[in-house]
Amino acid sequence: MGTEALLAEIAAEVRSCTRCPLHRGRSNAVPGEGNPLSDVLLVGEGPGAREDATGRPFVGPAGQLLSELLRSIGWERVDVFIANVVKCRPPGNRDPEPEEVAACGSYLERQERALDPAVIVTLGRHSLRRYLPGARISEAHGNLRRAGGRFVFPMYHPAAALHQASLRETLFADMRGLPGALLHAREVLEAERAEPVAITVSAPEPADDAADQLTLFQESK
Ligand code: URA
Ligand code: SF4
Repeated sequence: MGTEALLAEIAAEVRSCTRCPLHRGRSNAVPGEGNPLSDVLLVGEGPGAREDATGRPFVGPAGQLLSELLRSIGWERVDVFIANVVKCRPPGNRDPEPEEVAACGSYLERQERALDPAVIVTLGRHSLRRYLPGARISEAHGNLRRAGGRFVFPMYHPAAALHQASLRETLFADMRGLPGALLHAREVLEAERAEPVAITVSAPEPADDAADQLTLFQESK
């Protein structure tokens, strides 16, 4: 199955999901949306009022700022994929409970596998915790990090800058680092994928026997 079909299948399951109590208060689940070919996955916390009303991620005030941030580096929402740690709105926008995050986790995991992004941008603490459990956002923000096999680029949540104006500049400064981080992540991933699978030389080749040299590298990925 192709990426687009996989993402559509996950979205359909999310829309009818009753795995955790958050389904009871929702108007619409918010599976996520964006470009299935994108190498960048943005992960927020959970839907707010506007997202719950529309079924789309980051369409309220925090979403406006997110769009501005993307535009500041010449990107648009349609260039990335945007999802959340929990897909249904926590009542009154409270933090999601650990059990809710755990119940919803496999949807995000499947979205990650389907997209296989070079970089996952975490927006806020809850998203950061999923990939880098011990990290502090005040130290981790704006720095590309490795988490398992993936590259993670932590950022503050755009909503935080709506309450604390000083974070706005930090968000824009961190965003300026994202294209470079993506290039670096891609380079490393490509180099890793091109690594030799097995080295089968058991004895030194005679120096004049170049035609018989073993190929140590895969021709293609
Ligand atoms: N905040 C989030 O974390 N996600 C959204 O989709 C909207 C606001
Ligand atoms: Fe299902 Fe996630 Fe919604 Fe809970 S938050 S009901 S696990 S989709």
